[in-house]
Amino acid sequence: MENEDNLHLRNFTEILVDETLDRLWDEMGEICKCKRCRFDTKAIALNNLKPNYTVTEQGEIYTKLNNFRNQVQVDLIKEVLNATFIVKSRCSHYSN
Ligand SMILES: [Zn+2]
Repeated sequence: MENEDNLHLRNFTEILVDETLDRLWDEMGEICKCKRCRFDTKAIALNNLKPNYTVTEQGEIYTKLNNFRNQVQVDLIKEVLNATFIVKSRCSHYSN
């Protein structure tokens, strides 16, 4: 019988979008990095990428995540950059 506390359901695409966004935004000086813009960017990128829900056991996540990252890295960067420029161009929170 598996120890059920060790089981997790995770959307790997979401984890990697967060990771990619952090890395890319670190290198960008001119964009607004408020929570609203971050969530907007994340939402657009996630809607353009396929979700990848995976069940993992404790300790298993990094191997699986690394494999998945290698497969989708190019698309991730493309979609996060695309979403960043969309959000930057309309900057919704300034008009509120
Ligand atoms: Zn903002």
